[in-house]
Amino acid sequence: MNVSAQIEAVYAEVRRRNPGEAEFHQAAAEVLDSLAPALDRHPEYAGSGILERLCEPERQLIFRVPWVDDQGAVRVNRGFRVEFNSALGPYKGGLRFHPSVDLGIVKFLGFEQIFKNALTGMAIGGGKGGADFDPKGRSDGEVMRFCQSFMTELYRHLGEHTDVPAGDIGVGAREIGYLFGQYKRITNRYESGVLTGKPVGWGGSHVRTEATGYGAVFFAEEMLATRGTGFDGRRVVVSGSGNVAVYAAEKAQALGGRVIACSDSSGYLVDEDGLDLDLLKDVKEVRRARLSAYAEAKPAARFSARGTVYDVPCDIALPCATQNELGRDDAVALVKHGVVAVAEGANMPCTPEAVKVFREAGVLFGPGKAANAGGVATSGLEMQQNAARDSWSFETAETRLAAVMRDVHRQCRETAEAYGGDAEDYVTGANVAGFLRVARAMADQG
Ligand code: GLU
Repeated sequence: MNVSAQIEAVYAEVRRRNPGEAEFHQAAAEVLDSLAPALDRHPEYAGSGILERLCEPERQLIFRVPWVDDQGAVRVNRGFRVEFNSALGPYKGGLRFHPSVDLGIVKFLGFEQIFKNALTGMAIGGGKGGADFDPKGRSDGEVMRFCQSFMTELYRHLGEHTDVPAGDIGVGAREIGYLFGQYKRITNRYESGVLTGKPVGWGGSHVRTEATGYGAVFFAEEMLATRGTGFDGRRVVVSGSGNVAVYAAEKAQALGGRVIACSDSSGYLVDEDGLDLDLLKDVKEVRRARLSAYAEAKPAARFSARGTVYDVPCDIALPCATQNELGRDDAVALVKHGVVAVAEGANMPCTPEAVKVFREAGVLFGPGKAANAGGVATSGLEMQQNAARDSWSFETAETRLAAVMRDVHRQCRETAEAYGGDAEDYVTGANVAGFLRVARAMADQG
């Protein structure tokens, strides 16, 4: 069988084995489509079932999460952990608490994580988990009880050398704290390295909170530098207003960018003065309110419940909300307005049709598994500090993060050039570079 027929057969098997899991199919197709040149050059991987094995998770866990709400009623959610690939190290990847979470979403995220983690150069495998629990509007006590019940089931599958979760949408330092407390209570072990994203005071790493957003901006900065330009004086739009978006905006501003818009599930906000990040953090992190509260506090800003944040003309777009949020029409609008660079802070926020529009228009496009690798890379730094019972300064952690992002960017370009000829094809570069590292480890381990 030639290489493209083999790839087609693997993809057909992904669809057959995982019916209805559209996001997983999309993520698998995106990687598989890039791999023909890698398999042509390395026939040993084509012949040893590496592709077939890569697309089938090592283990998939689905479990019941019962908890008691503030009214005393018993609620039941569904929890997941997909341990996708452990060739490079313990399974590593976040937990997402959101009503849209199902097995297909967790599988797509876990699959992405394999290649992303490989790109960081660290000893971490790929996994992901979560629950269809909606933390919105839930009290602190409800969130705590949910986290405790979730961990009561999951703890038996975790360990600092086995599987190390972190946060993702709906899971931040508060939830990681509750999860850690329950793990410690059940196991009677203070195993700092079993979860990352912990608060800085007891085992967390400086810069972990900021890392995904900062990293996406560092990656975009590297892309822009190849064309002799940067953030200074540029109009920047971020989507989302969670942890990734807020810190992407913070770093873009620090580099001289004018961040004029962001969004949440209720609409988008434009502030031509540049976002007031103290106000944004107060609205989203402290008050956990909707974005319209920003415009109420600052009437010069405009909140809109209709349309999309991508209608706002900008030079640099950083999609930091969620999967498939930026479609073909959004991409066309951005190109029309002269966008120069797009770096994905979220996982798979751009649809394949949108990516095609960017590539054809010559827009610098950084795919999530490269551009947002800073979050998990800093989790890797947190694991290093935990293993050494050490705690680095903010500056040390940020310098290390910046170095990882520069290296991820360099790998993407060099691999893209070597395997496709076009150094700006970051999609091919990220997929092939990640694949080659994992494939080598899998082949070595038999
Ligand atoms: N959820 C993040 C991601 O998508 C971070 C995972 C981690 O730190 O383990 O990469």
